Parts: sequence; C-alpha cells; structure tokens
Amino acid sequence: LTTAEQNVLDKIETEDVDFLRLQFTDILGTVKNVSVPARQAEKAFTEGIYFDGSSIEGFVRIQESDMRLKPDPETFAILPWRNDENSAAARMICDVYDTSTGEPFEGDPRYVLKRALDRAKEMGYTVNAAPEPEFFLFEEDEDGYATTTTNDAGGYFDLAPKDLASDVRRDIIYGLTTTTNDAGGYFDLAPKDLASDVRRDIIYGLESMGFEVEASHHEVAEGQHEINFEYDDALTTADNVATFRTVVRAIAAQHDYHATFMPKPIPKINGSGMHTHLSLFTEDGENAFHDADDEFDLSETAHSFLAGILEHAPAITAVSNPTVNSYKRLVPGYEAPVYVAWSDRNRSALIRKPAARTSVASRVEARFPDPSCNPYLAFAALIHAGLDGIENDLDCPDPVRENIYEFDEQKREEYGIETLPSNLGGAVDALEADDVIYDALGDHVAPKFVEAKNQEFEEYLIDVSQWELDRYLETF
Ligand code: GLN
Ligand code: MG
Ligand code: MG
Ligand code: MG
Repeated sequence: LTTAEQNVLDKIETEDVDFLRLQFTDILGTVKNVSVPARQAEKAFTEGIYFDGSSIEGFVRIQESDMRLKPDPETFAILPWRNDENSAAARMICDVYDTSTGEPFEGDPRYVLKRALDRAKEMGYTVNAAPEPEFFLFEEDEDGYATTTTNDAGGYFDLAPKDLASDVRRDIIYGLTTTTNDAGGYFDLAPKDLASDVRRDIIYGLESMGFEVEASHHEVAEGQHEINFEYDDALTTADNVATFRTVVRAIAAQHDYHATFMPKPIPKINGSGMHTHLSLFTEDGENAFHDADDEFDLSETAHSFLAGILEHAPAITAVSNPTVNSYKRLVPGYEAPVYVAWSDRNRSALIRKPAARTSVASRVEARFPDPSCNPYLAFAALIHAGLDGIENDLDCPDPVRENIYEFDEQKREEYGIETLPSNLGGAVDALEADDVIYDALGDHVAPKFVEAKNQEFEEYLIDVSQWELDRYLETF
C-alpha cells in the first residue's frame, strides 16, 4: 500500500468508518456509488472493486461489461451524516479501469478530464478551477415529492423591495448575507430566510468533508442559493462538484426540502448557473494568466486561452449546458450569457474577467456552464478549448463593455458577436462540427454523448407541453 492508502486505513479505524461509498460518474454526470464494508478497503486498493458496467449509462456494451473501480486515496472524506451514533460512512472517488486491457477506461469522465490536464502539463501548466454552483431549495409535498414552491419568500422582501435584480441592492444584499463566519448578522437581518439553517448545515457538512467554502449567499431568485468553492486543481474541483450535488440534496432532504440543480426550474426569473473560474499556473507555481502590465492584468497566454473558449463556445455548450432545460436559462435578461463575447465589466458576457487583487487571482470566469453538467466533461471541454487557443496563438477580441442584451442584430454583427445555440439540438450539432471539443471527449464518450443528447432532444420535440395546451387548446 502507498502512504496515502495506509492513511485511509488508519482513518477508517480512528473514525469508526463502517461503510465506504466508492463513487464515480456516468457520462451524463450522474453520481454512481458502490457501497462496500470498510474492512474491504485494503482489497479495494490492491485489487479494485469489480462491477458490471453494462447497466451504467453510456459506459460499455453488454458483451464487454466488466469494469474495475480503483479508489483514489486522496479523495477520502467522511460523509457529513452518520448511519448511527457510533459509525460513519466515507466516500472515495474512483478511477474506472477496463478489466480486459487493464488500462484506464476511456469512457470514464474522470479520465477524460485527466487527459485534458495531461495536455496542459505537456504545455507546462497545471489548471486551477473554482465553481460557483447555484441551486434552488423547494418545498416537498405531503408525499415527499419535489414541488417548485420556494421556501423563503420572506427573506429578500424583508431586506429590500421587489426589484431584486437591481445591481446595487443585490451587492448590498450579498454583503449582508455573505457567510460563513457572520451567521449571527445574517440571521438578524433575514429572520425569514427559512433556508438559512439548511444552508448552514450544508456548509458545515461540506467543510467537514474538507471543502474550502469561500462564500455562500442567497441568490437573486426566491429560494435560490449559491455556494462558492475556493479554487483548487481542476480534478479536485470536479470531484468536489460531483460530491457537492449529492451532499446538498441529502442535507436539504434532512430538512424536508428538495434541492435542485436544474438550470431553469421557474420561467421568467433567474436560473441557476455554475460560473467556472479558470487559470493556468506554471510548474514553479506562478500564475501564467497574470501580467501586471496588461490593461486587464491578463497575460498573452490568458488572452489566447480566453479566445479559445470563445471560438469553441457553441460546441462547449453541448457539454457545459447539456439538458433541454439548460437553454431556457441562456436567454436575455436573467444574468446568463447568450452572446459570445467577453467583458471586464458587465455580466451579460459569456466570459468575464473578474477583478483580481493579487497576481494569484488573475483568472477568467466562464459564465455559461450550468450545474446540470458533468463537471469532468465540462472542465475538459473548457480546458481543451483554452489550450487550443494558446497552441494556435488565437487573437482575443476586444472586451464588450455595454449590455449585450440590449444590442440589436445589426450592432451584434458590427461587433462580430455570435449567439450561443438556442437549444440542445443546435448545441449537439455544433459539438459534432467541432473537432477540438469532440476530440476532447474522446472516441468513446463523444459518440455516446451525442447519441444520448440527440435522443433527449428528440423526445422533447415530440412532447406537447403545458404552454401549448394553455395557448392553443381553447383557441383552435
Ligand atoms: N443566476 C445567474 C445565472 O444564471 C447568475 C447570477 C449571478 O451570479 N450574478 O448565471
Ligand atoms: Mg457568485
Ligand atoms: Mg451567482
Ligand atoms: Mg460569478
């Protein structure tokens, strides 16, 4: 056993862990678990845990179904809830191996991200990422099913009148509600934010698992919340996003709420995004995105990386915004991007350059991803696009400082601003037409992903929605 593996065995002993959840994701980003008694840990490290991959979405065909899970000891974390008083459960994230070749399985999303990170490494970089996942907390009905009734209409209304999207007031509210260390003030100010208990438990839970929570706050919409992670290497961050969704849902459920990462659960109010901050560091720990002499404190490398994301944005959306519902969020007027442009000021752009106080903090913020994505695949797509921009020395367009939502078509043309795909079908077409992003997913994942998403879109197209019934049933 390696030292890290031995450490895990020791912790299992001292923390009375009785079950291990071995975690991985399918291509669609759903977290899968195999639960094993903790005494199997040593065997899990030395031999791996075998499972039948044929029933996992997009993994393998029936005839080649045996897969092996190899837990990554660095990802050991005790789950923030106990089975009973005396025992705990822990999770470890696994790499998936193909038993017929003994090699990493190409269909494992974690491996797809590792390939992107290897490419960065060959170019001399490590990749840092920090996400800002947003989510809604909804009431459950009497039978425990999710509704779309928010639980905290009172919270914001107490603090402010009803145009909650006003930038200034929102910033004030952010200031007042930024936790985790000023919970007292927060409770004082927003006695009716009924979700505050839940959010606090979520943060304690995440922190007990080793998450570095940078900030959390109530988002613009009623019942909407955001939790920001401290930046970390992109693989750890993707692992954390995958775990995060499970933890948030589990803790919300303990409070009888349903947490959802569905991008746009309620029409005509803000949806939930997952802004993703990215930067490249050199081997000696310098931020390769920083240049003090640049107007935006961004290096040439950063500008080319940014240009690469802009260039491949339509194809990336298929991966970073992978549901039918994702495209209900990417519409003008709700702080989500629609147009392919970057900005150092406004938030209607696809990529924002956040203000950075230190050289370490120079980074770009991709604002289009949403939390329904598979984080491994979405980060891989973004990273490959950016690295491609660097390799091809792509020129970065000028930032757009006006509110692009207000541009008409002519003005967008004048500025050379393209539009993101308006639905999942269009995004998948863009993915198929873009070699860089298609190859980013690899020979196994790309065709399976395309097939699954085309099928999802076709099912949606033949459905008859409530909107259609409301609009046409009595008219015609
Ligand atoms: N909810 C918005 C989105 O869909 C973002 C709001 C914000 O963080 N400023 O991306
Ligand atoms: Mg934020
Ligand atoms: Mg936000
Ligand atoms: Mg943001």
